[in-house]
Amino acid sequence: MDFSLTDEERAVRDTVRSFIRREVMPLEAEVLRRERAHQPGLDHSELRELQQKARKFGFWGLATPEEYGGMDLPAVLQSLIWTELGHTFVPFRFGGEADNILFHATEEQKREFLIPTIEGERRSCFAITEPGAGSDAANIRLSARRDGDDWILDGEKTFITGGNDADFAIVVAVTDREKGARNGGATAFLVDRAMGWRSEFIQTMGEGGPASLIFDGVRVPHRNILGEIGQGFTLGMEWIGKGRYTIPSHAIGIAERVLQMAIDHANTRETFGTKIGANQAIQWMIADSETELEAARWLVLKSAWTVDQGMDPRHASSMGKLYGAGMVNRVVDRVLQIHGGMGYTRELPIERWYRQVRLYRIFEGTDEMQRLIISRDLLRGYTKIGGHLA
Ligand SMILES: Cc1cc2nc3c(=O)[nH]c(=O)nc-3n(C[C@H](O)[C@H](O)[C@H](O)COP(=O)(O)OP(=O)(O)OC[C@H]3O[C@@H](n4cnc5c(N)ncnc54)[C@H](O)[C@@H]3O)c2cc1C
Repeated sequence: MDFSLTDEERAVRDTVRSFIRREVMPLEAEVLRRERAHQPGLDHSELRELQQKARKFGFWGLATPEEYGGMDLPAVLQSLIWTELGHTFVPFRFGGEADNILFHATEEQKREFLIPTIEGERRSCFAITEPGAGSDAANIRLSARRDGDDWILDGEKTFITGGNDADFAIVVAVTDREKGARNGGATAFLVDRAMGWRSEFIQTMGEGGPASLIFDGVRVPHRNILGEIGQGFTLGMEWIGKGRYTIPSHAIGIAERVLQMAIDHANTRETFGTKIGANQAIQWMIADSETELEAARWLVLKSAWTVDQGMDPRHASSMGKLYGAGMVNRVVDRVLQIHGGMGYTRELPIERWYRQVRLYRIFEGTDEMQRLIISRDLLRGYTKIGGHLA
């Protein structure tokens, strides 16, 4: 058994690390200043400029197939890169990406939606959640009714990331209520904002925020169906599947950065005439954080590896998402505690991470939904204790 990185993995990881350190981390003070003034940390043109810089560096389209100019990296490498991205709270991500399910588009749709999204000229959002259907996504109600060569969409989506900025939405709608969403009754549509949907920003405890999308008789041409009629729920689950290893990979990067801050603070801050790191109470918080971080690392890398092996990654990635999201919340909380009053202030970014990572236990499948999947797989015998080693 070999737990080391290959030369290629190490080289890619180190190149990303130096890019983040040189080009992205220096923006942190300005990002914090802007966010405190209720402005976006990075505006779209600044993000694009950084992404173009990264492109010259060779980083463009981590998950995008080579025929579209991307790198088409294995999931393990993508996971390692998401961890590097987690080392900074600057809302940077590499360009050249599109929602994974947009690759199911027709040639015409690819020209209109996929390629401009990869190039950063158009912005997408993915919408399945509704006010009455989150964890229970099969309970969606937004309807699409056929009218000649068009479909008419009525209903509301909510909590849609990027929904206030997107110029088109990938919307999962009910096309056959009798069948039900899970059994071929839902279909995905590519819906330009210009077709008439509107968005309303939702304030959250994090920076930025999702939006509600309102569809009031929005007319969408039949040619804008993504994939097949009835395939909407399957596409939705495919979209969500991607985040099951990228989110906890990002969490690992955050935990690494903040744990180092705690170690530095414990080695310098003095109380009662000694460094706080000399106290067992502090040492134990550091030890527990490092242990949980390491456990999360291997769970998540294993789930990415499962993707690369062409095995069904769902069980492994549910465990990685559940544990990684919980781990980063516990680690950031301990790190804030180790910093005392300073940890609670906005002088330091710890409280920002504290607010940010709370989301990781909720979106793209709550903790409870991951537990549901993991236990169901075992109870129904879909998987064995011990996974691929069993
Ligand atoms: C900031 C943000 C961004 C998001 N981005 C997107 C996006 O881009 N696109 C999109 O479509 N959606 C998005 N979502 C929606 C997100 O996926 C849902 O919020 C999430 O799936 C939970 O659904 P819910 O909020 O309706 O909670 P509910 O489903 O109402 O759940 C409430 C609570 O009950 C628990 N629960 C529910 N059912 C069970 C059960 N059977 N057993 C045990 N516990 C249960 C849940 O785990 C949760 O703790 C986003 C949400 C947020 C907050």
